[in-house]
Amino acid sequence: MASFSHYNFKNKKVLIRVDFNVPLDADMNITDDTRIKASLATITKVLQEGGSAILMSHLGRPKNGPVEKYSLKHLVSPVNKLLNEAMNSSVKLVFANDCRGEEVKLKAQALQNGEVLLLENLRFYKEEESGDEAFAKELATLGDVYINDAFGTAHRAHASTAVMAKYFSQENKMFGLLMEKEVASAEKILQAAKQPFVAIIGGAKVSDKILILENLLEKATDIIIGGGMAYTFIKAKGGEIGNSLCENEKLEIAKTILNKAAASSVQIHLPIDSIIANKFAANADTQEIESEKIPAGWMGLDIGSKACHQFKEVILRSNTILWNGPMGVFEMEKFSNGTKQIAKSVAEATERGAFSLVGGGDSVAAINELGFADKVSYVSTGGGALLEYFEGKILPGIAAINSK
Ligand code: AMP
Repeated sequence: MASFSHYNFKNKKVLIRVDFNVPLDADMNITDDTRIKASLATITKVLQEGGSAILMSHLGRPKNGPVEKYSLKHLVSPVNKLLNEAMNSSVKLVFANDCRGEEVKLKAQALQNGEVLLLENLRFYKEEESGDEAFAKELATLGDVYINDAFGTAHRAHASTAVMAKYFSQENKMFGLLMEKEVASAEKILQAAKQPFVAIIGGAKVSDKILILENLLEKATDIIIGGGMAYTFIKAKGGEIGNSLCENEKLEIAKTILNKAAASSVQIHLPIDSIIANKFAANADTQEIESEKIPAGWMGLDIGSKACHQFKEVILRSNTILWNGPMGVFEMEKFSNGTKQIAKSVAEATERGAFSLVGGGDSVAAINELGFADKVSYVSTGGGALLEYFEGKILPGIAAINSK
């Protein structure tokens, strides 16, 4: 694998797999351009050094060929604007109505240094997701260099995220700046965590987090479990959880995880108390109560104030912090305090020198919404990819670049 920072992109046509899978509203306006912004550093470096960029991405989940609402043409103008701002000059951005075929080939050939070609949605071809070799090869022939900067899809063995890497020599394939940062941050946690290492795992479902919990049992010193998933564990320990979220079919596995932790030196922390509600609604009546004494008809929708202190104490004595998943139904004001307090504690620990990584879906939304994104060491852009990494899986997008 080549190093992005040491590569000379002058006169090179650089194929960059970006993650432009951004949310669009009904009028096709981007509602959150974080992913585009996150890819700008890589693109601008290529252009500034005198290369040209061919951008490849997917958008949404089209199932049977082209769909108007998933066309990347909707992104042309906003991407161009962001590129112009980042380059401080007017960048020529050409759109190809397809991602394979003669027209694309001609547009790629005609591309001049400093220019950008954006290909149409890769997933308009089923060959992208099936990892078709001929499709990957066709994409590969468009450029001289391959960069994967799409950490969000690194867990997929798709044509553009993994398969096409094999058509480039070691010297001509590499991670982009975003991907480099993502991989380095994730490795810092899984492979070089300074102890004590606390993993804070929240969110709704135990079933989504079992593999990650099992893997972390071998790495972490402490695991904090909050959010809806905590109640399956509390019930597994014999607690009364009323109408709180519970996956009864996961009670056994929850017991196994608790037993495994007890047998090793990992401490699992469940919330001592909860904010309970008489219905799942923003205007519900609430009470604060011990998490294992929730009456019938009531449900735990956030961790309580004692739990906030309990978790804070663990977080502040940790040198490494991984946080995935909110502590409660943070979307509703009444149940957002737990997540906010944990964000504060993670920020405080970071200020004191701990390394903190926040990632995976809703925890990123929560930390952004609460305004703590710049107070932690790293906020990952990869949802599913990050979770699979922490489950201990080898990500095809990373392996493809690393392999000879
Ligand atoms: P996940 O995608 O698994 O990280 O779950 C995130 C979702 O879990 C958010 O939409 C939260 O509202 C929800 N959540 C967190 N805590 C609870 C809870 N105690 N009861 C129900 N849902 C919850």
